[in-house]
Amino acid sequence: MKFATFLYQPEPAEGFDMNFYRIKPESGTVGKPNPQMYTNIAVFGDNALAAQHPEWISVSADGPAFRSNKKFNLRWDVLCMTNPEVREYNLKLIEECARKTPGISISSQHFAEHAFCTCPRCVELWRKSGLNWVDWRAKTVIEFLAEVRERVVGKPLFVNCLPDPVLGKVRFGYDFDAMAEYADYFVVPMFSKAYPTPWYWETIARAFKSILKKPMFVNFYVRGPGETWETVAPHRQIMTVATRAARTGIDGIIFLAEKAQWIREFQKKVVEDKEWRKELEGYGGDEVLELFSRWEKLF
Ligand SMILES: [Zn+2]
Repeated sequence: MKFATFLYQPEPAEGFDMNFYRIKPESGTVGKPNPQMYTNIAVFGDNALAAQHPEWISVSADGPAFRSNKKFNLRWDVLCMTNPEVREYNLKLIEECARKTPGISISSQHFAEHAFCTCPRCVELWRKSGLNWVDWRAKTVIEFLAEVRERVVGKPLFVNCLPDPVLGKVRFGYDFDAMAEYADYFVVPMFSKAYPTPWYWETIARAFKSILKKPMFVNFYVRGPGETWETVAPHRQIMTVATRAARTGIDGIIFLAEKAQWIREFQKKVVEDKEWRKELEGYGGDEVLELFSRWEKLF
């Protein structure tokens, strides 16, 4: 297994195989590439661009894909994925970061939800395709992924998929088999401010591992922007969910934090909690326990 971080600041953390820098998270802010870190880019989820160009928002019969639309689970504003300006803007950033950094991870490279996008351009493209709605949307996602792949030359491409292994195609346009032809790795974000019941996360990890035809990572939430240690999961819950997910056969685990300092504080808590590391023996997640042991030399 490989282990990584997922950070909002361009400073890597120690004790991992790789660090991802969220150069453009869904807030839409854009940082500078760090050659020591893999680069994550949120593509069509982009609050900043949506504020500048509200006319680029993805639309549906139940309203636009702004965060304020409570009919859908929208945690950020989602732009129409057939908009040529949005595509080119993101492809250029992807190409630049692929040149300067060790690899690319893309997020929100898909439709906002099942009802999107019914803008005149999307409806016209759908009609011309001769496909049914679900297949046209999946083809649109794949065509964009193919364009991304052309810009990520000789470097690994990580493709994030929202954690729905059953309805991913209907909701977001994921055709997992077709996506596997372009992705080197899949990443399934499993973000939560609490992990009191690892059983559910383990179930989702096992389901994805059984269907994805490329190696797959999961991503757990340690401490994102705007959080305190009181508003996120206690370190024991994250230790447990990581150990239990590891036994499903997944290929790697990523840990999200705003910055390396929060990762380091999390590592220190893990290293010091010998009692809980002992408790987690026997679950079949030994590679995670070995990672925790390796962190001892950091302190
Ligand atoms: Zn559209």
